[in-house]
Amino acid sequence: MHLLNKVTTVFQGQEFYIAIELPNRSLQQAKICCDWRLKSLLTGYEHLLEQRLQQSTTLAGFMEELKTIVERVGQDGDMSPASVASPRFYSHLLEELAEVGWERLSFIDANFRWLHLEAKDSCDRRHVLKIHLHEQHPEVAPDCVTELPLPFHFISTGSNSLKNLFSQFKQCLEQYKEFWDAMDEIDSSTWVLEPEKPTRSATVRRIALVNNASLQIEVNPVQPTVLPKCTFLGADHVTSPLKGNLCKNLHHWRSAVSLLDNLQNVLEVTFPSPANTKKEDLSVECGICYAYRLAGCVPELTCDDSRCCQTYHRDCLYEWLRSDPTSRLSFNMVFGECPYCSKPITMKAPNK
Ligand SMILES: [Zn+2]
Ligand SMILES: [Zn+2]
Repeated sequence: MHLLNKVTTVFQGQEFYIAIELPNRSLQQAKICCDWRLKSLLTGYEHLLEQRLQQSTTLAGFMEELKTIVERVGQDGDMSPASVASPRFYSHLLEELAEVGWERLSFIDANFRWLHLEAKDSCDRRHVLKIHLHEQHPEVAPDCVTELPLPFHFISTGSNSLKNLFSQFKQCLEQYKEFWDAMDEIDSSTWVLEPEKPTRSATVRRIALVNNASLQIEVNPVQPTVLPKCTFLGADHVTSPLKGNLCKNLHHWRSAVSLLDNLQNVLEVTFPSPANTKKEDLSVECGICYAYRLAGCVPELTCDDSRCCQTYHRDCLYEWLRSDPTSRLSFNMVFGECPYCSKPITMKAPNK
């Protein structure tokens, strides 16, 4: 018996004709004939077709599989047998995406295994949930990648559906509302030197003070209004009074006040902000290479002379001092002169 079937693919909107010969109405003994374009498209996938043909119970089921394979080959996707799931997987996935809302879907890979769902929290901040579906989805729970300050754990509670997963993610976002409010205020009202582009998961900020000094804070994402871990970087004469203020005013810390205001209150400073300061005025660059970032490093060493306070990258200052004949090395410490003010400067030799 001969059966003629027509397969329409999304690949450049082309239609392909295919004839399937079924001796004794048996799929296992079937032969496939098709035009050269489809044949060339499927070259290299004969083994996969044969395998699918052996496993299919109905001709209609096999035609569904074939259609999926042709569409995916057309998209240049990975067509190894392991990456092609059953038609049930795809039809189920489509139902699930309709349930979540198609407008949430911002990315899906050619294998339909990686997808990104977008969510907005109650403050209109955009978040992305990256999902990797298991071949046995929904029997096996998907893996998730998020940009949250703490790991996100999906609790399947009887259902591994995308709807369940997405609603748990949205609930989780609300837990960090206060944390992101605090970080957004710092990012918009101060000069954040590190990280260069803070992500939603970043709990550390290095905030510019004045004269090559900065304050690094590490904020608790669960209790963002409590005192963060503070580290001062820069010349002693700038940072010492600030450390003193922090100890003296600690009891003035109020959990009802924003993180930024609390920091300014207890340190008795107003952080330079993009509204009133240019970044150049903060002279945060290295005094030798004039860059801020050099091979992932930021200037960490500062001249202790109160009229100079110039900062340098560790590597830049070491190279400078090494090439200066007046410098000397003693017990792994380098003693030399500040390239700016010629006052004594000391640094530990890098471990090379
Ligand atoms: Zn440098
Ligand atoms: Zn100096």
